[in-house]
This record gives sequence, C-alpha cells and structure tokens, in this order.
Amino acid sequence: MASRKKSNKKKSRRNFIQSGLKCGAGALFFSTAATSCKNPKEKVKALTQDGQLVEIDKPEAECCKPATPEEARNGIPNRKFVMVIDLSRCRNARKCIEKCQEAHHLLPGQEFMRVYLMQRTDKSAPYWFPKPCYHCNNPLCASVCPVGATYKRSDGIVLVDNERCIGCKFCMTGCPYNARIFIWEKLEREDEEDIEYSPETSIPVKEGTVAKCDFCPDMIRKKELPHCVTACPMGVIYFGDINEDSVTNGTETVSFSELIKENDGYRYLEVLGTDPSVYYLPANDRLFPFERGLDGLDDEVIERYKDTPYFKNKRNG
Ligand code: SF4
Ligand code: SF4
Repeated sequence: MASRKKSNKKKSRRNFIQSGLKCGAGALFFSTAATSCKNPKEKVKALTQDGQLVEIDKPEAECCKPATPEEARNGIPNRKFVMVIDLSRCRNARKCIEKCQEAHHLLPGQEFMRVYLMQRTDKSAPYWFPKPCYHCNNPLCASVCPVGATYKRSDGIVLVDNERCIGCKFCMTGCPYNARIFIWEKLEREDEEDIEYSPETSIPVKEGTVAKCDFCPDMIRKKELPHCVTACPMGVIYFGDINEDSVTNGTETVSFSELIKENDGYRYLEVLGTDPSVYYLPANDRLFPFERGLDGLDDEVIERYKDTPYFKNKRNG
C-alpha cells in the first residue's frame, strides 16, 4: 500500500513539473523578461524633434531606479514573496552559493545559502538541504533587535540595514535557524567607493555588522529572480509571489499552492511558530544519487559533513 502511494506520488511530481501547471494569472511578476531591465521591452511614449509621438523602450534608468530608503523599508507593494526548494533535485552543485557570494561581495566562507547534509536516522538515506534565510512572518530576529536595524517588510522580506546595525548579535541568538553571519572581515573591492549602500543590495559590506540572505530585493525590483534561483543548474529553487499563487525556477512556472499540495510541501521546524516563507518539497524519488554531491568538494566543505551519520557509518565500515 505504502509503495503504491509512493509510486503515485512519483508520477504526480513528474507530471506536475513537466506540465508546468498554469497559474491562471496572465501577467505574472516574474513570468517574462519583457519587463526586466536586462531586456527592457516596456514601451513609453516620446515626442521626436519633429513633433511626432512615437513609442520607445522604457529607459533603463526609469525601469531600474534603486529603491529609496523608504521603499527599502516598506517593501514592494501588494507582493508577498515565497521560495520553494525541491530537495529531490538538489545535487549539492553549490552554484547557488557561489552566485550569491559574488552578488553580495562575500568572502569564500561567508554563505547566505548553506547546503547541509541531512539524514533522519543513521539507517535512512541522506539528502542535500539548501538553507537560506526563511524570511519568517513572525521573525524573532526582528523582535529582538534593539535599534530596528532588522525589520520585516510588507512583501514578506526580512532585511538588515547595515548602516543602522550596531553588531550586538542579538538577532543571531534570536534566529532559531542560524541564518545570520557576522561580518568579521570583508572582501576589499576597488569599486567600493562608487557603490551607494542600500539594505536592498547589502553592499558595500560593512565590517562589524550582521548579514544574511535578503531574497535579492534589488533583483526583484527589476522583475528578475534571486541569484540563487537562476544560478542553480538543476532548477531546485522556485521563487514567486504568494498573492499570484505562482512560483518559477526560471524554466517552469507553476501554481504555488498546487506544487505544495501535490508534493507534501512543508516548512522546516514549523512547530516553532515562526511561519517561514520558504517551503521544501521532500527528497523523494531523487533525480541524482546523493553521492554525486560529494564530487569535487573542497576539504573545508567535506569537513563540515564529517559528523553526520553518513560519514560515521562510512568510517565504521
Ligand atoms: S546585530 Fe544588528 S541587526 Fe542584529 S540585533 Fe544587533 S543591531 Fe539588530
Ligand atoms: S535569495 Fe538571494 S540572498 Fe538569499 S540565498 Fe538566494 S541569492 Fe542569496
């Protein structure tokens, strides 16, 4: 009985992804590059020198204006962002981590996204578990910050304003998911003086403050997906707007609610009452053997996994 349920589920997952269940809404927030700043196809009317009214591509400067401090505080109106991570597809390629680090000017050990090796018991199959900030709807980190440097926006994103942060680390203690890092040192970049700081980009990085995954709100403003989503070669990470009931991994756009319902989606340690904005699809019917995720890893990364049951079993033969 149980195995039949499993095989039905397998079929359901594949069919679901292949058909890319349509989401109803016509103009999805991330559905098209037509409104993105990389390829601005939005049209505006303009008057030529000889007095003719013509349509031209919307200028990039207008399309991609950086957020004002007020916008960075309040969030993008009428949006509620959500992420879904399909554990059955992850093979620990670590491309999400690398792209995120590059975009946020982080040093090699500074990871906003971490990939853990998970195993329920020493007899069960191990699997890879990417973990960003969960952008909780009841964020304990924000409630303990004494200076309002970390805050929850109307679009669901939890941000850190590093210009306000005093580095007390209360939020690191408050976060039950260990999502935050302390910036003891930073990458030195020649272009740093030219970069205007915004909590939406987290750059330039500020030493002595706390940082974390920000859901890449600067990209979202440009109607582009977070870096980890587009960098993942396996399509593991879906991102979207819960108000539109739609998520995409850049290739497939699917109904968020059906994706979760059809595949037993869950949130990590929901019991804590934090109401996270990141969901997981279980690592059933994996697309890749777990061991592939160990290929080519740096010794420093392998070392992190050494105390897991998988490695202990290996050591004990
Ligand atoms: S480390 Fe910064 S963001 Fe965290 S609680 Fe202290 S002041 Fe707030
Ligand atoms: S959403 Fe952005 S900040 Fe968060 S892990 Fe992905 S790339 Fe990094």
